[in-house]
Amino acid sequence: MLMPFRPEPYVNFTEEGPRAKMLEALALVKSQLGRTYPLRIGGKKIDTANTIKSINPAKNDEVIGLAGKASGDQALEAVAAADRAFKTWSRVEAAARARYLLKAAEILRKRIYEFSAWMVYEESKSWIEAYADACEAVDFLDFYGRDMMRLGRPQEVTPFPGEENQYRYIPLGVGIVIPPWNFPLAIMAGMTTAAIVTGNTVVLKPASTAPVIAAKFVEIMEEIMLPAGVLNYLPGSGGEIGDTLVEHPRTRFIAFTGSREVGIGIHEKAAKVQPGQIWLKRTVLEMGGKDCIVVTDKANIDSAAEGVVAAAFGFQGQKCSACSRLIVDEAVHDELVKKVVERAKKLTVGNTTEPENFFMAAVIDKPAYDKINEYIGIGKKEGKMALGGTKVPGGGYYIPPTIFTGIKPSDRLAQEEIFGPVLAVIKGKGLDALLNIANGTEYGLTGAIFSNDRMELERARHELHVGNLYLNRKCTGALVDVQPFGGFNMSGTDSKAGSRDYLQLFMQGKSITERL
Ligand code: NAP
Ligand code: MG
Repeated sequence: MLMPFRPEPYVNFTEEGPRAKMLEALALVKSQLGRTYPLRIGGKKIDTANTIKSINPAKNDEVIGLAGKASGDQALEAVAAADRAFKTWSRVEAAARARYLLKAAEILRKRIYEFSAWMVYEESKSWIEAYADACEAVDFLDFYGRDMMRLGRPQEVTPFPGEENQYRYIPLGVGIVIPPWNFPLAIMAGMTTAAIVTGNTVVLKPASTAPVIAAKFVEIMEEIMLPAGVLNYLPGSGGEIGDTLVEHPRTRFIAFTGSREVGIGIHEKAAKVQPGQIWLKRTVLEMGGKDCIVVTDKANIDSAAEGVVAAAFGFQGQKCSACSRLIVDEAVHDELVKKVVERAKKLTVGNTTEPENFFMAAVIDKPAYDKINEYIGIGKKEGKMALGGTKVPGGGYYIPPTIFTGIKPSDRLAQEEIFGPVLAVIKGKGLDALLNIANGTEYGLTGAIFSNDRMELERARHELHVGNLYLNRKCTGALVDVQPFGGFNMSGTDSKAGSRDYLQLFMQGKSITERL
């Protein structure tokens, strides 16, 4: 009998114990920077002609590691290796597959500071953001392991005289797992192990800005002796090898989290039946967001301001759940904006690999830095800059918290995902108008409302069309199986990671009847 699932608790880095452990882990990781991480196909390490250089976004001359860069031929080999391994892995009993995850969770839990430190270096996460990412990864392993034990048991069907009837879930086949860089451990490990625990085999193509943390995770999966070929580590450019993986006739499904643009491309390519392909591919796609916090004239303005600042600027606003729109009733607009600006001004920005433990660090890479700055330029035309524009020294891609007021619901700043620390403030009058603005994008990932009026909260429950809705709290920070996570409309295929529905997306039901 296992202990019931409980989310891994966070630590407090102002306390001496956790702080000392983090500094120790950062020193360990620093001593391991610059190593090379080859591909792993069918249990073999494979060197490549080209490599992907992973750098510290906060200190651009610091190389975190070099990952192999797979060619098209190596992508084909990886699918073939996964296809071979499927024959045996798909027959392994569900409970046994689950035990691999539970064991991996235990190892990750013991090394949680080290894995957090890798994310501080490779991703410029703050300590607590990195730690929370690692906790979520532990949670996915712990939760999916337990949930597979549940789903591995015979499922209930209606008894019928003269027959023995059985209904069980079986795996699909080879899955291509394509994670984003922004939760480089949690989302990567979550999608990968959901596919594996359900009996599928995987080709994992990590995000090119976060291949090292993925390699470290793959090392754990080797340590627990996951059979060769079940998990193939295939770093490479999505633009170069993505199509080969997605279009392969032996690919059975694709689990992707990332941008709307790439997600739509995968959806379209996966829909086309290739010569020799004998199934329709399944896609599990989690895409972007234009998430909002609605503040009515009946809200507690201080807690709203606190929630907005945390959700807009935590991890530099680079969360799919980040608050990028503050939609506020005109009656409380000025007071709230003042408080949000005051709080945001106090946020510290710097290199989080240093002992200072800043709240914010650099954005992920040069293209992101340029794109966010372009939107800041657009914001200056569409609205008025209430905060931002200062330079942060230190040789990294730093963008300080930036706030624009006077943004109209149809403006680009109100419609397009920026994925950086840029908050658009949009004014409205009355709940109808506020909810209309909130629902007025093509996305539907997260949203929050601050109000002390019961009727307003009840209306928001029904009318705010987002996959993750929060009342009187920030719109980021979903926990596994506490707040199953995933959005509506252009935010994805309506799947819910960290839910009791999720693993079924990686399986198909088989009905077996024996005449007695
Ligand atoms: P991205 O640019 O779409 O990249 C995601 C992954 O797709 C990367 O591994 C990337 O590889 C790969 N890729 C790129 N082009 C490809 C192609 N043509 N075929 C196949 N794969 C391809 O997204 P990102 O910048 O990493 O992540 C940010 C986005 O993810 C945001 O839009 C955010 O909202 C979204 N997100 C959504 C959720 C959610 O749960 N809904 C969670 C987190 C993030 P390379 O790195 O090699 O380009
Ligand atoms: Mg990208």
